[in-house]
Amino acid sequence: MAEFSIIERYFKRASKSDVSLGIGDDSAIVTPPSSQQLVICADTLVAGRHFPLDTTAHAIGWKSVAVNLSDLAAMGAKPHSILLALSLPTVDHDWLAGFSQGLFDCCDQFGVSLIGGDTTQSTQLTISVTALGWIEQGQAITRAGAQVGDYVCISGQIGDAAFGLQHLGHPLQQRLDYPTPRCHLGQQLKGLASSMIDVSDGLAQDLGHILNASKVGATLQLEQLPIDQSLKNINLRQAWHYALAGGDDYELCFTISPQNFEKLSRQQLDIPLTIIGKITQQTGLLFEYMGENCPLQIHGYQHFA
Ligand code: ADP
Ligand code: MG
Repeated sequence: MAEFSIIERYFKRASKSDVSLGIGDDSAIVTPPSSQQLVICADTLVAGRHFPLDTTAHAIGWKSVAVNLSDLAAMGAKPHSILLALSLPTVDHDWLAGFSQGLFDCCDQFGVSLIGGDTTQSTQLTISVTALGWIEQGQAITRAGAQVGDYVCISGQIGDAAFGLQHLGHPLQQRLDYPTPRCHLGQQLKGLASSMIDVSDGLAQDLGHILNASKVGATLQLEQLPIDQSLKNINLRQAWHYALAGGDDYELCFTISPQNFEKLSRQQLDIPLTIIGKITQQTGLLFEYMGENCPLQIHGYQHFA
């Protein structure tokens, strides 16, 4: 089957009304809502590197969209559409059917359209998605605004995906295969959070990016980390390691003043939030356990490391 029939069969769908021109021409056309800024990001998934080789096609499709929507969420942006650059070793119809279904399931859940892309043959299965979203002028939440005295907060639970990767078949593998981008929460934090990042490479490393960009430090209370009880039951130190260095969580880590946290708590939230620490003048990331200093060696995921 040739490139065009693959696109036609698996990826072309009727465009939503807010897409002026979708798949089928040389480029797509989108009319930005007035006074909004375009927020764009791209993320690539390489087979065997970003997901285990036996991951289902459906999960790969879901995850390739979800990781990008998570990046948009981390800016406070409302997701709009994606482009898909797909490199396939062979044309496997069962795989393409599962993959496109997973991709559209994620798109549908978050109101996103697939508006274009590219399809090529290559030895390695590689999926690169570009995501577009909107935000009101000047409202984006960057990594650079953390203030001394702010709370450090995290959505949901962390460490699940890293644990799932080490224990394939465990129910927590679901969190590795089907991450949930926190799109709604990200938008709720506009005007409230002082800085934000999505946790993809481990909380310690990703929070480190906020600290560096904001030129501050933080102290985290290890007993506050929202970690699944089944991880803590096995081994507490190992559980901290999954939570701080594991990665693939796709939760939002943000900083917020105590006053704004009060305002946020009065809103309807679709995911639990936990205060895990505080921003400090002293740079660097420190850990405490039950009020005592608790030094830990943590290394997040890095390509080429
Ligand atoms: P061109 O040769 O002009 O780059 P292509 O033949 O690559 O165009 O693509 C034809 C149309 O199909 C374009 O609108 C492109 O955006 C879309 N397209 C190609 N591959 C994909 C894909 N994997 N998913 C979604 N749209 C795709
Ligand atoms: Mg092309």
